Amino acid sequence: MENKKNVGSVDEEPGGSIEESGSDNAVLVITSCQNWHTAYKNSLRSVEDLSRYLSLSEEDKTNLRQVAKTYHMRITPHYFSLIKDYADTKDPIRMQCVPSPEEIRQEEHERIDPLSEEKTSPVPCLVHRYPDRVLLLVTGKCFMYCRHCTRKRLWHTKLAEPTLKDIDLALTYVQDNPQIREVIISGGDPLTLPTERLDYILSSVVRRTNVEVVRIGTRSPVVMPERIDDNLCKVLEKYHNLWVNVQFNHPREVNPDSIAACGKLQRCGIPISNQSVLLRGVNDDPQVMIELCRKLQAIRVRPYYMYQCDPVVGAWHFRTSVWRGIEILEKMRGHTGGLCIPTYVVDGIDGKGKIPISPNYLVSMSPDGVTLRNYKNETFFYYSPKG
Ligand code: SF4
Repeated sequence: MENKKNVGSVDEEPGGSIEESGSDNAVLVITSCQNWHTAYKNSLRSVEDLSRYLSLSEEDKTNLRQVAKTYHMRITPHYFSLIKDYADTKDPIRMQCVPSPEEIRQEEHERIDPLSEEKTSPVPCLVHRYPDRVLLLVTGKCFMYCRHCTRKRLWHTKLAEPTLKDIDLALTYVQDNPQIREVIISGGDPLTLPTERLDYILSSVVRRTNVEVVRIGTRSPVVMPERIDDNLCKVLEKYHNLWVNVQFNHPREVNPDSIAACGKLQRCGIPISNQSVLLRGVNDDPQVMIELCRKLQAIRVRPYYMYQCDPVVGAWHFRTSVWRGIEILEKMRGHTGGLCIPTYVVDGIDGKGKIPISPNYLVSMSPDGVTLRNYKNETFFYYSPKG
């Protein structure tokens, strides 16, 4: 099925929805979503919603209902409109948002909490893994539930809704540990919180005198660009030490709506970095990754990390080999500018931390220097001063 996007003017009534233009010749029309609450309400939440747009057999529906019992499903109108061919189960956008029976397949090495965030959580909703920074998990809710998510466990637990008391307690921990200089506000997607609550959390974080930098991890510009509205920007622009990390995984996600959302954040003075996840069938191809990173650089979103997909329960089918990641970087380095090249990282299981991995350009070392290899696979000796 072909999809058509109809972006209205700002004078239109706020709101957005997914509509079919007639049952015989169903053309998907995504109307403009000036209001994120309406867009949220109009998201696809069930197998029945999906079956209005996708051709699903009874067996498909039964399988998907089984998956939906284990893992939430929510797809925003904007993200769903990015699917090119609704009949193509391998569409890279569809793969990231539409549940798959693969999610309930059991694999030997997969884990519910692969990074052991729960073991490194000294107080509720806070993860302290590195000396100078902490992760503050302010919600388990997301605008869209990405099928490859590392924190699928949070979708159903009570951490999905930490109270302000939990958050205050976590920030007391931050204050009591003066070596902490950076707080990463994550979840879930923190921008699903009401703007006033987010403002309260941000002001509580920056009040801690040891906090020099605040980061927000969000996928909103990609999946719910409507969320980056004037009210939110008015709040965010008050905080001068704020960074935003986003997650673009495929070049098609860089489109006029997401570009506009990033532009609004940038006009608030916020630097944006991208953390892609390397996903089988979505972006595990050097040309796709190069195109994605070039598009991001062109809109001043820094390609920061390319994550190896974690061994999380329910996402095994997205995992590629580490060799594949190295091969992708090998084909990027030298062939495109350094600002387009993310750092490839494996997040070590059990809280071992992020390990940067790269093709090997240092062939050997001797007292006089090093033998190096360049992007053309030429090796040469490079004299190095001693000491
Ligand atoms: S937005 Fe982030 S936290 Fe939410 S489902 Fe997607 S990957 Fe997981």
